[in-house]
Amino acid sequence: MTIAHNLGFPRIGVGRELKWALESYWAGKTTQADLLTTAANLRAQHWQLQRAAGLEQVPVGEFSFYDQVLDHSLMFGVVPPRFGESSERIGLDTYFRMARGRAPSGEPAAACEMTKWFDTNYHYIVPELQPDQRFRLASDKLFAEVAEAQAQGFSPRPVLIGPLTYLWLAKTKGGDFDRLKLLDPLVGVYQEILARLNEQGVDWVQIDEPILVLDLPTEWLRMFEGSYGRLAGNRPRLLLTTYFGALEGSLHVACHLPVDGLHVDLVRAPGQLEPVLAKLPGHKVLSVGVVDGRNIWRTDLTQELDRLEPLRERLGERLWVAPSCSLLHVPVDLAREERLDRGIRSWLAFAAQKVAEVAVLCRALDQGRDAVAEVLADSDRAAQSRRTSPDINRAEVRKRVSELGADAARRRSSYSERAKAQRERYPLPLYPTTTIGSFPQTAELRVARRDFKNGRLDAASYETVLRERIAHDVQVQERWGLDVLVHGEAERNDMVEYFGEQLDGFAFSRNGWVQSYGSRCVKPPIIYGDVARPGPMTVAWTTYAQSLTERPMKGMLTGPVTMLQWSFARDDLDRDEIAMQIALALRDEVIDLEKAGIGIIQIDEPAFREGLPLRRAAWRDYLDWATRAFRVSAGGVADSTQIHTHMCYSEFNDIMTAIAELDADVITIETARSDMELLEAFSDFDYPNEIGPGVYDIHSPNVPATEEIVGRVVKATRSIPAERLWINPDCGLKTRGWKEVEASLRNMVGAARLLRDAS
Ligand code: GLN
Ligand code: ZN
Repeated sequence: MTIAHNLGFPRIGVGRELKWALESYWAGKTTQADLLTTAANLRAQHWQLQRAAGLEQVPVGEFSFYDQVLDHSLMFGVVPPRFGESSERIGLDTYFRMARGRAPSGEPAAACEMTKWFDTNYHYIVPELQPDQRFRLASDKLFAEVAEAQAQGFSPRPVLIGPLTYLWLAKTKGGDFDRLKLLDPLVGVYQEILARLNEQGVDWVQIDEPILVLDLPTEWLRMFEGSYGRLAGNRPRLLLTTYFGALEGSLHVACHLPVDGLHVDLVRAPGQLEPVLAKLPGHKVLSVGVVDGRNIWRTDLTQELDRLEPLRERLGERLWVAPSCSLLHVPVDLAREERLDRGIRSWLAFAAQKVAEVAVLCRALDQGRDAVAEVLADSDRAAQSRRTSPDINRAEVRKRVSELGADAARRRSSYSERAKAQRERYPLPLYPTTTIGSFPQTAELRVARRDFKNGRLDAASYETVLRERIAHDVQVQERWGLDVLVHGEAERNDMVEYFGEQLDGFAFSRNGWVQSYGSRCVKPPIIYGDVARPGPMTVAWTTYAQSLTERPMKGMLTGPVTMLQWSFARDDLDRDEIAMQIALALRDEVIDLEKAGIGIIQIDEPAFREGLPLRRAAWRDYLDWATRAFRVSAGGVADSTQIHTHMCYSEFNDIMTAIAELDADVITIETARSDMELLEAFSDFDYPNEIGPGVYDIHSPNVPATEEIVGRVVKATRSIPAERLWINPDCGLKTRGWKEVEASLRNMVGAARLLRDAS
């Protein structure tokens, strides 16, 4: 039998049950027992669904209350000293304090850093390692979940992040030391974990080492053999899993480690199949990831079987079939999408459908295509209709992209000349204060939006609610003394969805939620066809907000790279081309805003860094087209119009040239969480334009003290001249409450005043 399996299932729940349970627990409205019950129900439901679809083993332990990397930190006892944790088994509230700074019990403390999981929009909590770090088995979560699955009659396949990937993702605190020195003791804990799983009667353990698809330094690659050697012996069989790319330089190591099977991603890197087949020892299982775990397109099953059948001939029962990676990155179930256009819907598959695809492929391999003839016919029809649909190809859009000249990507003058024109137009004080765009989305606003979407609230009343909200946001910013105002983004549910809804070529699911971090989910739009802008998207709201104040109102757009990166993009057109289509739509919007008198326009690109390919060899190409797309969107305005951009969760060191090439007049970045460390990249590079380094962390509800902010800005002035510094929070404020926003921004403005007085 060909084993159909899965590397991980989304845990948030089809109705985001986990999100609601977490948030109500954090708010003190429900008990920890309630939260645990919801979690157990979700796990049972998801295992059930996977088995019903035809999977033999179900992944276990990939369920997480916040983040799977943080789960491992807890399991290894990696809790930074500031959390004051000394119990033998670390509790859930310490876990939440590490993730978000506070929990129903325990003292608040600075949350751990969060960063992107490889090239996805999922964020993990960065493990903090001390030079004298001790590891110990400090959580029973994994074993409890294994027992839970067994009690329900499932055959559990625990999922672990491998020791090298865990260390690679970690950050050292208290001195710069070599993390690899900690590998030995860490592997000791893995031995203990595997022995316990063995005792529990587990047959296979999945051990994820996605760093094998990176350009890994040789000293890291060299460590694999020894540490996996130490994992031999008293343990279940191991499936070493890699995903998000090709093994390339790690191929030999990955094939020859003393484990029992290897999983490779054939969606991202189909070309690695032959080299892997040539190297993989004959006793090992080869698991092929052929169903796209990163995107929502339905698999063309017939085409896939053409590839798999010869493989099955060759490998026999050594062949396993799976999605390319964990399904964490796709929504749960398409069955909920009754309202989606039927044509588009027939082209899609979410997690539940993807596990079914895997199972069908295995059935066809074992019993022949006839055994699944109907499913195959249906898949053929969908593939055919997608190839030929007239909604997808629009000649005028293609033409505009292909005829675009070099000038479109250039501002008229250099930054220094533009800066003069902008200072004349807007004489701002030293250390101008601003925010990143969004203000808290109140419950009233959410209800109004839901009612409007459901037809319970008419357009005029909805507009009134939004106008009142915008007026309120403008008023408070004036009162608190900010210099450059924003309208607050009350009309936006999400920074990508809002624009996608107004553009041709985008479609939307109703429940297609994907976890971004913790309880936060995003519902990525689906780019299925050529993109065009039928009309202005933000002009009315922005000019309304501007009409309420004398101070400059910043227009707020989402950039082309982020629109692409945070959508499920079509897989039948190159990404650079999709980005350019979006850039042109945004360019028209920027020009319309300028015409309407808006002189400061921010084009957010928080996903710019995240789009960077995992392998360096592919960076140049990406950075070229991504930079060009941004410049095309910003390039149509006069010198006196100030273009801002904003980026968060980014490491800038490697991409400074491209960041400078964006040539935004002002860039605001997230720096507070790293205590301004990220700013060093800009000073080392002699970054020429203006910068607003975030002065406080918006992911935590803690209010920053004025002195704390002053301290951070003073730190910033050591690397960037004061004349080119702005003062702003790390990111938008939509997830925060009004009380903490008021206190924080008042302190921020107070800090700016102190700094001005002192200079
Ligand atoms: N303008 C957006 C906001 O403030 C930016 C969000 C982001 O960077 N992720 O919400
Ligand atoms: Zn941000």
